[in-house]
Amino acid sequence: MVPKATGAAEITSELAVQRCIEPTCAAVYAIGERIYVCPQCGGSLEIHCHLPVSADPSLLRQRWATRAVSKDPVDASGVWRYREVLPFEEPVPVVTLFEGNTPIYRAPRSAEYCGVTDLRLKHQGCNPTGSFKDTGMSAAVTQAVVLGASTIICASTGNTAASLAAYAARAGLQAAILVPHGQITAAKLAQSMDYGALVCEIDGNFDDCMRLAQELGADPSIYLANSINPFRIEGQKTVAYELMEQCNWQVPDHIVVPGGNLGNSTALAKGFQELLDIGLIKRAPKMNVVQAEGAAPLARLFASLTANQIAGAAPLPDSLANVENPQTLATAIKIGAPVSWKKCLRAVLRSGGKVLSVTEQEIADAKAIIGRDGIGCEPASATTVAGIKKLAVAGHIRDDESVIAILTGHVLKDPDYVSHYHRGTLSFASVKNASPQRIAGTFANPPRKVAATKAAILATLERRR
Ligand SMILES: [Zn+2]
Repeated sequence: MVPKATGAAEITSELAVQRCIEPTCAAVYAIGERIYVCPQCGGSLEIHCHLPVSADPSLLRQRWATRAVSKDPVDASGVWRYREVLPFEEPVPVVTLFEGNTPIYRAPRSAEYCGVTDLRLKHQGCNPTGSFKDTGMSAAVTQAVVLGASTIICASTGNTAASLAAYAARAGLQAAILVPHGQITAAKLAQSMDYGALVCEIDGNFDDCMRLAQELGADPSIYLANSINPFRIEGQKTVAYELMEQCNWQVPDHIVVPGGNLGNSTALAKGFQELLDIGLIKRAPKMNVVQAEGAAPLARLFASLTANQIAGAAPLPDSLANVENPQTLATAIKIGAPVSWKKCLRAVLRSGGKVLSVTEQEIADAKAIIGRDGIGCEPASATTVAGIKKLAVAGHIRDDESVIAILTGHVLKDPDYVSHYHRGTLSFASVKNASPQRIAGTFANPPRKVAATKAAILATLERRR
């Protein structure tokens, strides 16, 4: 049963509460209240779960390991396997597509390119709809079912839309997605259409879509599924649990995540904090966030922080200077007004990590290098490897430190980008109406036109050696 809606300070749920993250407010709400921001001060909400703290946390490890080989869909899901740390009361109407369970790859070519020795890539693009959004969406759509919503809405740069469309279809609910017209890759739009969502192409950018989605989310029949929704974060935080299990509970020194709406880094940091609180790990990794230069409001803010602010000895800024017209070919992170910036910044600073930006050329080259490791990702994911290279040069990541980068989307999410890069025809206009600037195909691998003879193919192979 879900607790009845209550005001602050009357919470009786044993399981979890929603809490305002503003220290001066910290209002508490029941888990069953359909709110996305604090009704008292407008601050972001965070779910506090009553964690399963026990004298012997290894029992939890064993239980999760047993479930990982179970045939039960709820056990097999890389989210619901960790249900002890999720804010749902039994019986839960779980909506799952067997999300999670994504691989961690060693990436020697990428490591060499970055100048580090221990680089691994956790590929969240191996989720059911090809992006990291699925773990959070499984939790959010399940909560929509718990609340009896009939329609779920989101603003999206494409991946959230595809994920919501799929999970809503599984749950038999209507999905409405708001996407900026002409700014979504054909592959992502095709997914949403195929899963039966109402696709609204809005004459505006992502930030306009986000504003509209929040306005519509106030309607009692509509449930908002953007990452401002704290249940999305709850599903996504399980990635930290899965990652630690895959690393045999050996904590990496650094986690590196692309930065768009900043929900992913927030969720991972929350997962690591909980693992510390439960006693499953003894220290947390440094959380580093990488944005594209043309859509880097948090990286700019981070660069302006004083030493006292970074050390937690002075208050953090209250507002973020949004990027009015964000520009990047990494469309998944083309966001100028990220809704989760405060939670993300707090998490990065607490961990001792950094927020930085990389150029379009750096993203494109890093993506090609990841490809040479046999791992395909969408452009936004490659900000991680581009960022690690910069952080290694700057000495923030030392040669002997271990790094895990989170790849967020599958290579087939944006095949046009890949093709243009390798054919040397990729270009980028950094300012509206400016002439496009060509991206060099530094590691280009274009197809060769070869005569239909064995000799011609052998000669081409020889030339390539
Ligand atoms: Zn508040």
